[in-house]
Amino acid sequence: MKHLKAVLFLTALIVAGLFAFRTYNARRFHLEQDTRFLMDTYVTIYAVGPASTTKPAIRKAFDRMQAVDEKFNIHNPESPLYAFNEAGTPITDPEILAVTRLALSVSRETDGAFDITISPLVDVWGFYGDDPAVPDDATIDAALERVGYDNLELAGGALRKRRPDVRIDLGGIAKGYVIGAAAETLKENGAPSALIDAGGDVYAMGAKGQTPWKVGIRNPRGDEILGYVEVMDLAVMGSGDYERFFMQEGRRYHHILDPQTGYPSEGTIAVNLFAADPLTADVWCTAVFVLGPEKGLEMVEKKAGMEAIVVAETGEKRLSSGLKRLLKALPQTE
Ligand code: ADP
Ligand code: MG
Repeated sequence: MKHLKAVLFLTALIVAGLFAFRTYNARRFHLEQDTRFLMDTYVTIYAVGPASTTKPAIRKAFDRMQAVDEKFNIHNPESPLYAFNEAGTPITDPEILAVTRLALSVSRETDGAFDITISPLVDVWGFYGDDPAVPDDATIDAALERVGYDNLELAGGALRKRRPDVRIDLGGIAKGYVIGAAAETLKENGAPSALIDAGGDVYAMGAKGQTPWKVGIRNPRGDEILGYVEVMDLAVMGSGDYERFFMQEGRRYHHILDPQTGYPSEGTIAVNLFAADPLTADVWCTAVFVLGPEKGLEMVEKKAGMEAIVVAETGEKRLSSGLKRLLKALPQTE
């Protein structure tokens, strides 16, 4: 009798323990998510962990994204970028300086294919206005005069102009930084396992509980899914000629410009770029787009931890060597 009681008690204890463990695990591996409209797109953040932690962490991450996005917006009169462009006020903001430093180093590495002083050219094409159109040659030449990263000086904790009419535009890089800032905020607030999806630009941080995150890779040209990759701490960013463009006389003119010619860059129609952090992925995505499939992929192959899919103007789809190994086919049922 005594023996039976002990067994019953033990069984009850084990059942209670298992139940508690399951509840504990369910809370620990709970997937919280929320969506906000930011940076012209729907951004969804997923975070693994107890809702009491992940909910406020996600909210703070969104708030931070909003603040950083506003700071990096050249059209916002409160932004240090606005004061720099309009009045030549040197920039000392540490976040903008960090991003600019990376931008300048990529400009040097790509012989100026990526160049944040592209702004006057973006203006004359009118990509952010209501009525974009092909400018005449003289207008393009005058804008090109002012383009060149050598016209910027970053030293002594400040970014200065070397000629008064230089302007900068962090449009090719800000999204990556904003996503990175959100990730940092999630981590600081106890949510280090999270995925941020900003309209297809994705950063997967940590793991999804006990498994890696699965990120579906869409054909950057078209709707079909090419497959998926299982990732931890990896960003996938996209650039395409379909994101912002206009048609004139049957030709497509898109918003990624070649600082050599002053025209939309030719040769590439889309790039997906994979790198350990979203800022690096975003800069290189735009850079590879301008460099074109040949030179672009050559650069990617040289860089540790970087992979890419490049769709050439011919429609040909090219994958970097590491990506061919990483990319998994979707199960037939999905
Ligand atoms: P999206 O804004 O569609 O995500 P990208 O990240 O490729 O696309 O960035 C495109 C933006 O980058 C343009 O709108 C413009 O502000 C800027 N840009 C265009 N050409 C260049 C270039 N050669 N170097 C740096 N930035 C560029
Ligand atoms: Mg970019």
